[in-house]
Amino acid sequence: MYKLSGVLLSENEIKQKVNELAQVIESDYEGQDILLVGILKGASVFVADLMRAIKLDVNIDFMSVSSYGSGTTSSGTVKILKDLDVDIDGKNVLIVEDIIDSGATLRNLYDTLMTRNPKSLRLCTLLDKPSRRKVNIDVDYVGFVIEDKFIVGYGIDYDEKYRNLPYIGIVEDI
Ligand code: 5GP
Repeated sequence: MYKLSGVLLSENEIKQKVNELAQVIESDYEGQDILLVGILKGASVFVADLMRAIKLDVNIDFMSVSSYGSGTTSSGTVKILKDLDVDIDGKNVLIVEDIIDSGATLRNLYDTLMTRNPKSLRLCTLLDKPSRRKVNIDVDYVGFVIEDKFIVGYGIDYDEKYRNLPYIGIVEDI
């Protein structure tokens, strides 16, 4: 059994952070186009807010991946369930993820997209749990560094529940 046991990040804190990230991204990519690649389903809410906060020419596409392996740690291989619709050759691509835990998902995704010859490839995550990292990966834009708690909300689920919470909550076993 589990229950939602508290709020980790409020709607307002998230909104402020999304605006801050958008400003940094805007100045880094000044005068250039960006393709945001949202990772389904968890990053759907974040990428929708982020794209509206970036005052540049922004395109959006989505990928859906699943990590092989059982239990709570990713094995290091990702299976592409839905690939990009567009060719990223010569484009500035920014992968937008909800949360980085072991880092395996993003590491694999990064290496896969790198083979497609983008002009640039960077990573943005709303949440980062560095204490759980198993794979070395540089993340260019990080919203919040958080402790090792199981979180939900703002697009992120537990068993497909809680994605529609406007804040980030903590789920605990009871
Ligand atoms: P990684 O490959 O970095 O270990 O896994 C990242 C993925 O694990 C995230 O995209 C997310 O789906 C899942 N994940 C990691 N930590 C949490 C968490 O606290 N809550 C939820 N709901 N999913 C998490």
